[in-house]
Amino acid sequence: MRFSMLPSVFAQMFKKPWTNKFPAKYAPSNTTQFLADVGEGKAEIIPPIETPIGFRGKIKYDKEKCIGCQLCIKYCPCEAIEFKPKTKKIKIYLARCCFCSQCNDVCPTNCLTMGEEFLLADTDPYSKDLIVE
Ligand code: SF4
Ligand code: SF4
Repeated sequence: MRFSMLPSVFAQMFKKPWTNKFPAKYAPSNTTQFLADVGEGKAEIIPPIETPIGFRGKIKYDKEKCIGCQLCIKYCPCEAIEFKPKTKKIKIYLARCCFCSQCNDVCPTNCLTMGEEFLLADTDPYSKDLIVE
């Protein structure tokens, strides 16, 4: 019975892997150097695969459509959204966000959508890339 697996095992060895070697074919021993090499054109970043439909990436906010109702704030389980009383608009701290999409679902004017961007790692949780407003 065990030997019946062998054809599958051998076939697998010659198949193209399903994994995407993103961002590099092999893990760089020095990431900082790798990024510097990318900047100088000596190394290349392998692009990520396309995100699937319904992917929950960086939130997009169409503030022109926002009516300041604060429902998103009420429903956010992570307290990631702040109200700006002066402008009656919101500010989202993505470092606190768990990408549950509840703010999108509850917004009466559909001004929030889950985007496709997912390369959000940053050492500063308050960097401008991690704040949506
Ligand atoms: S996606 Fe979820 S956690 Fe993130 S801001 Fe919206 S409600 Fe809050
Ligand atoms: S729920 Fe929508 S309209 Fe209401 S404050 Fe939040 S983003 Fe603005």
